Amino acid sequence: MSRPPVVARTFPALRRALAELRRRDASVALVPTMGALHDGHLSLVRLAKRRADKVVVSVFVNPTQFAPHEDFGSYPRTFKTDAAKLAGESVDLIWNPDIKAMYPDGFASKILTEGPALAGLEDRFRPHFFGGVATVVGKLFNQCRPDVAIFGSKDFQQLRVVTRMAADLDMGVKVIGAPTVRERDGLAMSSRNVYLSAEERAVAPTLYRALKEVAKRIKAGKSIESSLAAGAELIAEAGFVLDYLEARHADTLAPIKSIKNGPIRLLVAAKLGKTRLIDNIAV
Ligand code: AMP
Repeated sequence: MSRPPVVARTFPALRRALAELRRRDASVALVPTMGALHDGHLSLVRLAKRRADKVVVSVFVNPTQFAPHEDFGSYPRTFKTDAAKLAGESVDLIWNPDIKAMYPDGFASKILTEGPALAGLEDRFRPHFFGGVATVVGKLFNQCRPDVAIFGSKDFQQLRVVTRMAADLDMGVKVIGAPTVRERDGLAMSSRNVYLSAEERAVAPTLYRALKEVAKRIKAGKSIESSLAAGAELIAEAGFVLDYLEARHADTLAPIKSIKNGPIRLLVAAKLGKTRLIDNIAV
């Protein structure tokens, strides 16, 4: 058995732990999370272990990426279970700062992201979101100075935004995307799936099914527009309220009219009752 991870909650503890990890020039991977860990998060940890000598997982529910009406207060917080799961994956260090450490009184700076952050997807429905994400990820990169950082393709626009930011601001971190881990019925794993009632949970996989249906139609030569319309109908019939279902260029996230101009990524966000779910697949 390897040692349980060190848990750092203050900057001095983090600095000490990182100095210890970096002895003998070990490379470090960072996996940023908001906790409530599931197998999707653990797959990022496993990828991190293949890409670096030491693995740091941050667990921090970041208030600045939630709007006042969103679920910051009710977001699941399960630190003990999370720490046990990370111990099972032989993670080296858990960085679990408190809010005051991250955002001390007088905190007044923010990273402004454009390009993929203004693609008209998540940003259209959560205008505050990428400012909060970019700022906290930038802070985590500065605090931990990782060589690589792993992000899930589940949050596809976020992956593009963070990759762009790390390159644009010379953060010296290689951002690596990891595939989406799904439940057996296709639902993308998410910490927010616990909000779903039994009835909602039963229809939630429709989102993935609809994405696959749209991809199938586009690959069969149907127009992107009609394929998306068919997908939107499936999603609405299942009882979702759709925020968006779009076909975008997988690299730039620019709108795309033809499969010839691909690679295409299909992205969806929809509400089922009070729960907002997102998903995406390649065509
Ligand atoms: P979160 O804790 O939701 O902020 O997510 C932390 C990281 O885990 C992000 O990079 C997410 O994209 C990634 N992630 C969340 N769900 C999944 C999933 N089902 N499969 C793969 N990665 C995921």
